[in-house]
Amino acid sequence: MDYLSNYINGKKVPAKGEKWIDVFHPAKGKVYAQLPDSQAADVEEAYQAAKAAFPEWSNTTIEYRSEMLEKIASAIEARHEELAQAESKDNGKPISLARRVDIYRAAANFRFFSKAITQYSSEAHHTAGMNVMNYTIRKPIGVVGCISPWNLPLYLFSWKIAPALAAGNTVVAKPSEVTPYTASMLADILDEVGLPKGVLNIVHGLGGSTGQAIVEHPDITAISFTGGTTTGAHIARVAAPMFKKLSLELGGKNPNIIFADCNFEQMLKTTVQSSFSNQGQICLCGSRIYVERSLYSKFKKAFVEATEKLRVGMPNEDATQVGALVSEEHLNKVLSYVQKAKEEGGKILTGGNRITKEGFASGYFMEPTIIELDSNDCTINRDEVFGPVVTIMPFDTEEEVLGYANATKYGLSATLWTENLSRTMRMTEEIQAGIVWVNTWLTRDLRTPFGGVKASGVGREGGFYALDFFTEPKNICIRF
Ligand code: NAD
Repeated sequence: MDYLSNYINGKKVPAKGEKWIDVFHPAKGKVYAQLPDSQAADVEEAYQAAKAAFPEWSNTTIEYRSEMLEKIASAIEARHEELAQAESKDNGKPISLARRVDIYRAAANFRFFSKAITQYSSEAHHTAGMNVMNYTIRKPIGVVGCISPWNLPLYLFSWKIAPALAAGNTVVAKPSEVTPYTASMLADILDEVGLPKGVLNIVHGLGGSTGQAIVEHPDITAISFTGGTTTGAHIARVAAPMFKKLSLELGGKNPNIIFADCNFEQMLKTTVQSSFSNQGQICLCGSRIYVERSLYSKFKKAFVEATEKLRVGMPNEDATQVGALVSEEHLNKVLSYVQKAKEEGGKILTGGNRITKEGFASGYFMEPTIIELDSNDCTINRDEVFGPVVTIMPFDTEEEVLGYANATKYGLSATLWTENLSRTMRMTEEIQAGIVWVNTWLTRDLRTPFGGVKASGVGREGGFYALDFFTEPKNICIRF
């Protein structure tokens, strides 16, 4: 059994209390590690370390910070396989995905922001005719809090930490208690590369205790949070009276809109990925699939066939395409949505069940599931399910499908399949989402704004947007 520790002031330290949380191996349904449920006193210790480190870190040169992040990126790459194995074990995701996406991206996040910060510059406004010059400097905020979810553990943890550090802040960070393992390995990497002590502090524990203590801390004045919409709303309520700066990346219920004129093969291949990658546990998965009626029966047949060919297997096997869901509680939640969909008239075209065959019964495996609907007005098309479950439904007109796409409280991403340029321009303007992919999915350029509208979040991350979040602009106006 592994016991994880907090990482505070450059050292692995035990939490002050005695509360421990079990960490499960989702493919086996067994506890394999424990992490401390850190309380306010532990967060305070982390805050004090970050506060003490801030003056020196924020006054280092951009080149120095850039080099530090670069070293972290290289150290992650050097341990790529070890980290991928750990992520796959902790989360249940296929090892191939952990290698290709999670760990690759964690290193890329540090490398990207190591370069982005060297290109981030201040603005000046010369007010001609008045002998006035305004210039705007961007100062790091101070000690910031970063809180991340379980679905892409090190990937999303580093997506927040890297820009926060690059901009000169010091950080108190909390990974998800469900998947804390790679964050604790990151602590070893920080030691190895010689990140000055106190610059990045990692505290483990539950959302309601550790997370809450970070959000409530009066002197942690900015919080970057990725997680569920309900948690985001709670954080916003706690933080608002203290006027904290907030970046909230929340849930989604993303439409995947397919027109008959699309490139069918490309669309089909990508739609299988956008439906079931990471067991459907990516906030950007397209969980509501709308297909133009003239293509509907061809799509339905091919999509069911392709889905049934997906290899559900042990996460650590190279050939596995779909692994285990992250926890039994989450699996049961996903199954309850399938049940509800049936009660509301949905027809299961494939899947729908927990996998209980030999070798799988104690893990949290579920069949990739497709549900056919004849109405958009149902629970499964309203709530975020966050599992290997998608719905399909035909449509006749652009106006109709736009109505379906926007009939949700969420607005994170959308995917559109068509070769018609005018339709693309019309639809992409009207779809309510922070990100619209056309004839592709999950294609990312880290410079672009990332985030959602409506209940999918507030603010944007990525590129200079993240550096804007993690700095405070100060304008200086000089008359000469
Ligand atoms: P969650 O909201 O339960 O937890 C996210 C993090 O917040 C965890 O570290 C948790 O411990 C912490 N937390 C919980 N309660 C807290 C509180 N009161 N105060 C402070 N922190 C608290 O989410 P999850 O189940 O880990 O992740 C799944 C959700 O994340 C889904 O809704 C998914 O759509 C969303 N998500 C969004 C994005 C995005 O970029 N928009 C990316 C990935 C996941």
